[in-house]
This record gives sequence, C-alpha cells and structure tokens, in this order.
Amino acid sequence: MHIIDLRSDTITIPTKEMLETIINTPLGDDVFEDDPTVNQLEEYAANLFNVEDALLVSSGTQGNLISVLSQTKPGNELLLESQSHIYYYEVGGISAVAGVIPKLIDTEHGLISPEQLEQNIRPANIHFPEPTLLSLENTHNRHGGVAFSPEDISKTAEKAHELGLKVHLDGARIFNAAIYYNADLKDYTKNLDSIQFCLSKGLSAPIGSMVAGSESFVKKARKKRKMLGGGMRQAGVIAAPGLFALKNMRTRLVEDHQNAQKLAIGLKNLGFKITEPQTNILVADVSGKFENSTVAVQKLEELGILIVPFGQTTVRFTTNRMISEDDVNEVIEKLEQI
Ligand SMILES: *Cc1c(COP(=O)(O)O)cnc(C)c1O
Repeated sequence: MHIIDLRSDTITIPTKEMLETIINTPLGDDVFEDDPTVNQLEEYAANLFNVEDALLVSSGTQGNLISVLSQTKPGNELLLESQSHIYYYEVGGISAVAGVIPKLIDTEHGLISPEQLEQNIRPANIHFPEPTLLSLENTHNRHGGVAFSPEDISKTAEKAHELGLKVHLDGARIFNAAIYYNADLKDYTKNLDSIQFCLSKGLSAPIGSMVAGSESFVKKARKKRKMLGGGMRQAGVIAAPGLFALKNMRTRLVEDHQNAQKLAIGLKNLGFKITEPQTNILVADVSGKFENSTVAVQKLEELGILIVPFGQTTVRFTTNRMISEDDVNEVIEKLEQI
C-alpha cells in the first residue's frame, strides 16, 4: 500500500545532496570548539538572525531547556502560553531539570498580548516566585501552525522587557512563519533574548536544532548543553547537512503551505471542521465523522494515511517535503470513500 505520512514534518529524510555534504566536510572536537563545520554553521545561523552567536544542540527540546536553564534560577516563574510545546510536550523538563514554576496564560490564537502580560505579572511580594522569563512560540503548533509577524512578537517582547522579563522564542518552525509573512528572519530577533529553531523539521536535516542570542547567552547555553550531555565531538557530521538545510531548504517550505491549503479545501468540502491553515499544520475536528481522534487515526492508517491525534476529537495533518500535490489528492479521494 502507498503510505502517505502526514504525522509530522520531522519524518522528512535528508536529501542525497545533504548527505553528501558530510563526506568531505572538515571535522574536529566540538567540545574543544574545534570543529570547523560546526563553527561555520553557528556563524551562518548567527548572521541569518542578526545575533551575536548561535549554538548547535541535539534537539528542539534540548534547545528550549538550555534556553530556560540559562536564563532562570530554580523557583523562578516562567510565563508561557497554555498550549505551548514547552509546557505540553517536553516531559516537564522546565520543572524537573530547570526547577521553574510555569505560569500558563490562555490565548485565543497562541500569542500572549502585551495587555495579557501586564495582567499576569504580579507586583513584587515576599510570597511570590520571581517572574524572570517569558516564552513565546512561532509558529504555534497546538493552535494549528498559526504564524505571528515580527511586529506582533516584538510588541509582546517589548512589554516583557519593560516588566523586567527576558524573552525566549520557541521558533521550531520560525522559517514557516517567515515565509508566511515574507519577513526577514533578522526582524524576528530584534527584541528577543534567545531563540530556538529546528533544522530537522520542514528543513529536512536529519538531526539538530540551534539556539541563538547574545554572546553571553550562548556562553551560558554552551555550559548547560554540556551539563545535559549535549556536548558532541565530531558534530560536523550533523552540522554539514544542517548548514545545507539552512541555506537551501527554506524557500521550498512554501510548497508545504500550498499543500496544506489544498488539503484544507478538500477536508472542508467533505464536511470536516478545520482550523484554517496558515503554514504546514492543519488541525481537523473529526466529530460527526469518527467516534473520536483515536478511531480516526486508526481508520486513516488502514487506508495508508498517517496522522496524529491532537485532542479528544481533533487530529493533526502536517504537510512536508515527502508529500506531493498528488498525495494530497489521494488523501482527499480516499476520505471521500468513507
Ligand atoms: C518539534 C517542536 C519542538 C521540539 O523539537 P524536537 O527536536 O522534537 O525536540 C519544540 N517546539 C515546537 C513548537 C515544536 O514543534
């Protein structure tokens, strides 16, 4: 059976060209900061985002945790959106490892507004944990891949700074957001203290994420990475395809967005209630069609369509480089049959 894998954009395997970059790339020991390929990737990433420095980390989860560890102390309050990946999908690392207490803020579309931030910061008081860091997410996964503009991110970040907080951005899919707004990546980091972005999602690199920010942030992050066991040796074998991905795979994300649009139209015509996709994530409500999301995932799997459950009655489709326009048509045709 022809399998159409829409579970995630992390299923993208590296291209042949990407793998070929590994063969001849110069290598060294990255814990000694001696791997020329890692150094080249970090410099390229820092320039791309117009920040002082960047650091290769093993995953997005590790990058987010390192960013929190580097900018908080145990007992501090971390403000973040209720549906954020850091809170929802990262095994409680912010509490188990960084020892921070999360303060969750509900939003309609995924971005905490400056007003909401103001309402959620309590004045200094002997009883309260000290609020030190705000984390935002762009694109926002659980809100259906919704993208925010550099201006919107900046407004909230500015308010956070006024209130004495540092600001981290979980930009696992920041390249999708930049494509949606036709924005320069440099504009996203203007008011941020740290950013995490993934090389291994839509960009199709096999492994790796990066954190970026000021020199002093990256210095702390490097030490926390070592503590977490993320100091890697000839990491150039990861950096080389990562660099290729950063240089060559960003612009093609538009195809994933177009396929998500096409899938959305098909699902709507079939009577599914969906969250209008802006990027490569589409959340559909399966109630009225299937008993619940688990049943929907199972029925689609029987047809060769792989997706993930998202809530009681919601499922997520994620378009990616392994999915063609024909595949999208095939998904719609197969769903028509049931
Ligand atoms: C995937 C993802 C992460 C974590 O990345 P991993 O490499 O899977 O650990 C963090 N935040 C968001 C929004 C993500 O989608």
